[in-house]
Amino acid sequence: MNANYGRELTAHAHILKGRGIFKTNNKRTKSYIEYIKNDDPKRKILPRVTGNEIAAFCLTEPSSGSDAGSIRSRAVLSPDGKHYILNGSKIWISNGGLAEIMTVFAQTPVLDEKTGKEVDKVTGFIVERSFGGVTSGPPEKKMGIKASNTTEVYYEDVKIPVENVLGGVGNGFKVAMNILNNGRFGMAACLAGTMRAVTRKAVEHATTRLQFGQKIARMSILQYVTESLAYMISGNMDSGCTDYHLEAAISKVFASEAAWVVTDEAIQVLGGMGFMKECGLERVMRDLRIFRIFEGTNDILRLFVPWNRIQFAGAHLRELQKAFKNPTANLGLIFGEATKRAIRSVGLGSSPSLSEYVHPNLATSATFASKSVEAFGQAVEAMLIKYGRGIVDEQFVLNRLANAAIDSYTMVVVLSRATLSLNSNLPTAHQEELMTNVWCNEASQRVMQNLAAIRSPQNLQNFSNLSAIAKNVCENGGLVHINPLLL
Ligand SMILES: Cc1cc2nc3c(=O)[nH]c(=O)nc-3n(C[C@H](O)[C@H](O)[C@H](O)COP(=O)(O)OP(=O)(O)OC[C@H]3O[C@@H](n4cnc5c(N)ncnc54)[C@H](O)[C@@H]3O)c2cc1C
Repeated sequence: MNANYGRELTAHAHILKGRGIFKTNNKRTKSYIEYIKNDDPKRKILPRVTGNEIAAFCLTEPSSGSDAGSIRSRAVLSPDGKHYILNGSKIWISNGGLAEIMTVFAQTPVLDEKTGKEVDKVTGFIVERSFGGVTSGPPEKKMGIKASNTTEVYYEDVKIPVENVLGGVGNGFKVAMNILNNGRFGMAACLAGTMRAVTRKAVEHATTRLQFGQKIARMSILQYVTESLAYMISGNMDSGCTDYHLEAAISKVFASEAAWVVTDEAIQVLGGMGFMKECGLERVMRDLRIFRIFEGTNDILRLFVPWNRIQFAGAHLRELQKAFKNPTANLGLIFGEATKRAIRSVGLGSSPSLSEYVHPNLATSATFASKSVEAFGQAVEAMLIKYGRGIVDEQFVLNRLANAAIDSYTMVVVLSRATLSLNSNLPTAHQEELMTNVWCNEASQRVMQNLAAIRSPQNLQNFSNLSAIAKNVCENGGLVHINPLLL
């Protein structure tokens, strides 16, 4: 992330100068376009999905949600090689009962070039209901987003023309992940709007009650951070950046959790009235719950976020390891690295500096952000050295690293926006400065706490105790402790 500071700050400046946030309001459309080349006959589908026709994205199955690679729907090539014949079923598909056009993922037999054996690999297809053999179940009865049509979809001997394969046979897992990665950035924009409305509702009630001051301030800050994430990522996308998946995942996790907190606080501010249907906030709360689950659960995304940095650090360490095999030839690299580490170890190292980019009023906050990014990088490296490949199983560590990464990125994002507002003398600049300074102060403290936790034997012991408690409860089929009155 730190290599992108300059790019991000400039990108943010561009969009606030009026380049518009979203050029397409159908988040799947961009994904289709990416996979359909100019001369591809599938291109005729694009005006339909950007127009009035309803589309669906069909991945989840009863036995496969987060673990998308284990789907069971299967498509095999017809004897004449002109069609794939699809059989299987999907669950919880948004627009499942309405969509004419569907992106469907299924296992297909593929020849493994290494072994010469046939193996099943996921392939993406564009399926139209008019092909025949596509049916859907009744709308699911849900906790929220009730206006959204969610159904099962069944495929029975559906004949899909071979040219409807999306992104190449056997590449479906990558296609599905890319579509999901592309879509996530929109959640921050949508939920920033929700938070604006919810906060307005709370403020209408709170203006006469001073004791709510802190709650309203925190609601405002969370909305500001979320909205800034949406501006930053969409601005980067507009300026041609294609490497934004990590940032989009961060924005999805942050936005879905911030909106939940803000709405919960709004209900609290309104007291009993907040609990009443007529107030409208209970519906928002129910609708919001799903945002932490779909488009990649927040738990899974919290594994994905640090994983990116771990891969980067792993490659760097491997390069260093290689250099040590022939130290004379690589003296420059080894010496440079040794000096950097020695300086860091005595506390004289300089963190990546943001000061040249931010407004002087935000200098202290910029230092907090720089130090957080530096500490995060060091922690990832230390964990990689400690756990090696086993880091993938250390969910406690990954979770804390993810929280530190999310806090670090949000600091950069608000610093960027507030700087632009201050430099442009916006009427809201002072308020933005206040919010940015509070956010960076608190977020940097959380980063340090999270990074300290993964190094603390006491915390690691606590984590293994938590695993033992969970194991006992699961083995017991419920809580283990008994009612003391039964003694
Ligand atoms: C209203 C609604 C609309 C939906 N729309 C669509 C749609 O249009 N298209 C579509 O394809 N799907 C859709 N889905 C499905 C949705 O994407 C899945 O529910 C989601 O991916 C999670 O899968 P799951 O429900 O099977 O949970 P699981 O994968 O079974 O996960 C259950 C819990 O375990 C956690 N977990 C799982 N694996 C791990 C791990 N390795 N480490 C740590 N924690 C883990 C998860 O975070 C989660 O908390 C929709 C779902 C709903 C409810």
